[in-house]
Amino acid sequence: MVTLLPILIKNRNIPQKQLDEQRHTNQEVLNEVLRRILQPLTFKQNPSAESGYYNVLCADGNFRRCKPVLAAWLADCPEYSDLHHLERHVCFWCECPKNELGDYVPTDKQHPRGDHNLYQMLSDANTKAADAELSSRQVHRGFNVFRHIPCIVSDLPKPDLLHTMQIGVLDHLQNWIFHFMKTNEWLDKYNTIWLSVPAYHDLTPKTKSYEEVSQWNGKEMKEMSRYLLGVVIQSLGGGSLAQHPIFNRAIECTRALLEFYIYARYKSHDDTTLSYMEDALCRFHTFKDVFLLGRAGKKAKAKANALRTELVKNRKVDEETNAQTGTLSKERREMNAWRDYISHEIDVSKELDADFNFPKIHLISHWVERIRRYGAFQQYSAEKHEPAHKMNLKDG
Ligand SMILES: [Zn+2]
Repeated sequence: MVTLLPILIKNRNIPQKQLDEQRHTNQEVLNEVLRRILQPLTFKQNPSAESGYYNVLCADGNFRRCKPVLAAWLADCPEYSDLHHLERHVCFWCECPKNELGDYVPTDKQHPRGDHNLYQMLSDANTKAADAELSSRQVHRGFNVFRHIPCIVSDLPKPDLLHTMQIGVLDHLQNWIFHFMKTNEWLDKYNTIWLSVPAYHDLTPKTKSYEEVSQWNGKEMKEMSRYLLGVVIQSLGGGSLAQHPIFNRAIECTRALLEFYIYARYKSHDDTTLSYMEDALCRFHTFKDVFLLGRAGKKAKAKANALRTELVKNRKVDEETNAQTGTLSKERREMNAWRDYISHEIDVSKELDADFNFPKIHLISHWVERIRRYGAFQQYSAEKHEPAHKMNLKDG
């Protein structure tokens, strides 16, 4: 079954109450559209259905007794949340809490899988206790068409190399590396080496640095994954002895995530390749804290700025109270030491408020288990049909 769902208008500049009402209406419209599209699968309403089987016209022109089952569904994270009536920014395969999304989860220690039969039961109960239970499981109350057709709802979302990795986690990685280079005053060297990557074989010549590109597409990310590690290693060569351990961690983190991505692209797997993939993911989580500063959001930055203001104020009071008596060079040394101190305090403050809790970094912890159950990812990746979707939009 192939379908394109209607894209609802995004209303951002309207009052919250109106926005909530609009969202509710959008949800109802989406459910109704899905109900109509999936009608042939709802056997109870199909008079020709017997035990789930009925005559289906096949591609060769013959009718056969078939049992259609919805098996796969490809979308990005927010769409999955809407389709499955889940809260935003949660895993659609398991019940991992939002504040643990950034933690490493080994394949044999996954969180409980989403139980949509239970969600429907709680939703139908319509009591305060049931609502609280749904809320604790990060699920919205209400009718959801997937829970009424023959399928395992939590198995419908399939791993997607394009949205989850290429324009998801790899995009984050590029951003973290950019912040890392900037913080360590290594950005000029990084940009110079980046722009010097030759147009070898089918690589596109580089005319813009990372920060000069407003948005990266999947194809560019795929290409970038082939030279990023080389650029990072070359850029971080020649640092001081004190910088070596942190630079090595940045290189190892980059290497591990790119390795994981390369294994995920394999067209076939065995136990060995899957163990390599799991090992790469484990190493990525071991080293990822080196990029924690790059995860500081608006709140963390605002808090750090407030701390800077307070420290500067305290310094002024201190200067006014204790008149300077030292030489000019001593004052300069003290000023430099004070700037280093402030810079360190700001970084510590940002790191304390930063975390890696976003859905896509968690989703890839399911990938090894998903490959074991459903095979290699190339068969699902949205990178195959996204160009066709763009062509359709272009052609009207
Ligand atoms: Zn999960």
